[in-house]
Amino acid sequence: MSALIVHTAFLGDLCLSIPLMKKIKAEGVSLTLVSRKGLGSFFLELGLIDQFFEVTKGDASSYQKALNALKQRTFAEVYVPHESLRTAFFIKSLQASHKISYRSWWNFLFYDVRIRRDFKKPEALRVLELYRKDPFILEQISNYREVFSGKDQVLDPVPDWAQVQCQLPAISSQLHSIVPSAPFICVFPGSVWETKKWTEEGFQKFCLSWKGQIFLMGSPAEKELCEKIKGGLSHVQNMAGKFSLIETVQVLSRAQVCLSNDSGGQHLAAVAGTPVVTVFGPTVLEFGFRPWSQKSAVVQYEGLSCRPCGKHGHKKCPLGTHDCMKRITPEQVEKLVLELSSYSPRG
Ligand code: SF4
Repeated sequence: MSALIVHTAFLGDLCLSIPLMKKIKAEGVSLTLVSRKGLGSFFLELGLIDQFFEVTKGDASSYQKALNALKQRTFAEVYVPHESLRTAFFIKSLQASHKISYRSWWNFLFYDVRIRRDFKKPEALRVLELYRKDPFILEQISNYREVFSGKDQVLDPVPDWAQVQCQLPAISSQLHSIVPSAPFICVFPGSVWETKKWTEEGFQKFCLSWKGQIFLMGSPAEKELCEKIKGGLSHVQNMAGKFSLIETVQVLSRAQVCLSNDSGGQHLAAVAGTPVVTVFGPTVLEFGFRPWSQKSAVVQYEGLSCRPCGKHGHKKCPLGTHDCMKRITPEQVEKLVLELSSYSPRG
């Protein structure tokens, strides 16, 4: 028996699909993932999948190569949390007992099981709801409610049956030598979307006032941003671009707490089981992308009528003010980071 997940969205979306991966793997089936380039090996190393194919948007040959291999096989189920016409055409010629996705007016030709996407639920539960074989889970999802205050807030713990936290592979001796033995925190100041970044000045002031060691984390493209935030601070290290995804969660798993924008960093912290504080600007919790961690908190500026201004944020603030981020103070952020840094999920 084998199953397939086709999900070509960003890293955070894939992390929020982990509860679905765990359910499928618990059946003892072989699970294949089709993801965007650079993400597949991370989920293989976490032991959540057995095989992966990576595709690149705009590179038709990468899709064709994956399709040629997948067409040789028959799947019990194909799960598609990614609602796009391109993905629908991608899975159309595959052999599967069931092809499962969210219901939309156009996709009855592609999927035999289509469920309503409940936008009031967190994304991790929306994806998990594609798994139709466990009545207990479906009932729990149906009854799930969470209240957001619109203010800075410590969030409810994530239910046990929907955790993204994973057992991590053993840390290498090289990585072991880099990770501080003293308490430290990880800070992710970057985002693919400019308006989702808290200000450089905010991060700088936070780092200046934080008493312990700080690892600034991010992709190779975020090295420069991290270097600016680090400045001359000797207790801050710029680690952007130094770690693979699996190494990043291994480092996070040793950290007291993670501070992140509403981007990949918060989801990696959840996979590591590390408490996380997320700064929300143009996006809001109601979109369903809260930090999906046992212990998490959000910082946000309440009362702006322009929030939210887009599902993902923008390259530039449409009003030119970026007040949703500029008005968030380092003191606000530090208060919650301090509160969560004393929490230890690992005892
Ligand atoms: S329009 Fe408002 S919510 Fe959107 S980026 Fe600008 S300040 Fe933030």
